[in-house]
Amino acid sequence: MAVGWARDGAVQDQIDASVQDAVKLARSRLPHGESLTHCKECGNIIPDARRKAIPGVWLCVECQAELEAQQTTSAGYNRRGSKDSQLK
Ligand SMILES: [Zn+2]
Repeated sequence: MAVGWARDGAVQDQIDASVQDAVKLARSRLPHGESLTHCKECGNIIPDARRKAIPGVWLCVECQAELEAQQTTSAGYNRRGSKDSQLK
């Protein structure tokens, strides 16, 4: 699925802006935060501790990490994990 990092980078600014807008919108709609019991992405249960730690959370740990990894990768490069695995 490595279709083109250049294109991903090109839309990063729009993604950042969209995320910020989404956060503002979510906060205006949910002033107290509303955490989901199940991941919006994969449907896995989101642990109580995570929901309390992150008000308004709607992704499980795995999906959140994946999302952040995608954002990190498109912003620059994050190949440290791959290199580490190659050392074995
Ligand atoms: Zn998930």
